[in-house]
Amino acid sequence: MPLPPSNRMQPSTCPVCGYVMDANAPSEGEAREPKDGDLALCMRCGEPAIFVVGALGTSLRPPTDQEREKVMLEWGQEIAAYRNAIAQAKRMLN
Ligand SMILES: [Zn+2]
Repeated sequence: MPLPPSNRMQPSTCPVCGYVMDANAPSEGEAREPKDGDLALCMRCGEPAIFVVGALGTSLRPPTDQEREKVMLEWGQEIAAYRNAIAQAKRMLN
């Protein structure tokens, strides 16, 4: 499967594990700037976060309980597959 196009972005810290991300890739379609409220998945821990895009730039915040519930209902299978891929990549690197 080809990698989706990626997009450089202002470095943003994962609110769960502290990993600093400076690029993002859409789950489908063309690379674009993240919009306020878009879902992000951390490349290191696989936890969901929410993009905050404002006058001061782009950052990430943890989802509210309600947002997390909605995300897991809509994207639970994809997130599980993504976490498996992260775990597999970590095993290959060790
Ligand atoms: Zn993380």
